[in-house]
Amino acid sequence: MKVVVLVGGVGGARFLMGVKAALGMPAVGTAETAGGPGDGPAHEVVAVVNTGDDVWMHGLRICPDLDTCMYTLGGGIDTERGWGRAGESWTVKEELAAYGADPTWFGLGDRDIATHLVRSRMLRAGYPLSAVTEALCDRWKPGVRLLPMTDERAETHVVVDDPDSGEQRAIHFQEWWVRHRAGLRAHAFVPVGTDEAEPAPGVVEAIASADAVLLAPSNPVVSVGTVLAVPGIRRALLEGPAKIVGLSPIVGDRPLRGMADACLDAIGVATTAEAVGRHYGARGQGGILDGWLVHEGDRAEVPGVTVRAVPLLMSDVDATAEMARDALRLAGVWHD
Ligand code: GDP
Ligand code: CA
Repeated sequence: MKVVVLVGGVGGARFLMGVKAALGMPAVGTAETAGGPGDGPAHEVVAVVNTGDDVWMHGLRICPDLDTCMYTLGGGIDTERGWGRAGESWTVKEELAAYGADPTWFGLGDRDIATHLVRSRMLRAGYPLSAVTEALCDRWKPGVRLLPMTDERAETHVVVDDPDSGEQRAIHFQEWWVRHRAGLRAHAFVPVGTDEAEPAPGVVEAIASADAVLLAPSNPVVSVGTVLAVPGIRRALLEGPAKIVGLSPIVGDRPLRGMADACLDAIGVATTAEAVGRHYGARGQGGILDGWLVHEGDRAEVPGVTVRAVPLLMSDVDATAEMARDALRLAGVWHD
């Protein structure tokens, strides 16, 4: 089976762990695909990862969602924090702060910086982000093919009221999310450059040959929403043969871990599983979904979309694997 999953960072990475487990793929640190000896790979998972959060800082290219997926699937993540490297130290960050080198509000760990150094050097040498990601994954062996949504620079900006002048201005998503903890009221999200961005090599091909496409329970605005804003990806999804099933990141009218409600407020969508399902909309009716999974006890009616209620708490890998199987069942490709 070939499964394509659209993901952001922490929520997306956790969900990918469940997809791997559902398909019987080893948890960490092994080859690309699962399969019996000699009979070729049984399953393939391709993750199309949001790169709208990416940013240059201190001369380093930082790709938060790609790295969260890579470290999580490769067994290098700090599981408490959910992002960054396990066993991290912060010496470089402290030294930069001692120079007063901006920005000082971004958590750059020493181990993590090695990743950014390798990436930045390869990018400057002319390699596209997709090739750089593949090279980094040689070390981490995530077991899932991690593809950036695009090789081009396409960064999300947020229109806010400047706390000093009171005038509206756009700041980088990371500044809004990390520095201001999404506390400045957002008027709009502007995916700068996404309109003209081409999908990274392999993305359209993966979607066209997928048996199922899943939208992870990632942030619907600044993670999955950004991936869907790449015109070529949206087109490939609409034209593709596979059913598209989304999982709600909103459970009991609240986002789990994170500040998705601040993002939904900004685009005028209520923080409910139904409103997010309607925001994604039905394929063929201007939207993207064939199926929508909401948490048991939540209700949603989404015109033109088959809705099912199942447990959607990623409390451990087994629970998350069952979510993945439920999504594949709804896509019609998992038979018990
Ligand atoms: P980020 O890029 O690191 O912000 O992470 P993502 O966009 O991939 O995921 C963040 C989203 O995951 C949030 O909107 C959460 O509501 C959602 N989320 C986190 N944990 C769970 C969970 O256990 N179940 C569900 N359904 N959603 C979750
Ligand atoms: Ca993110």
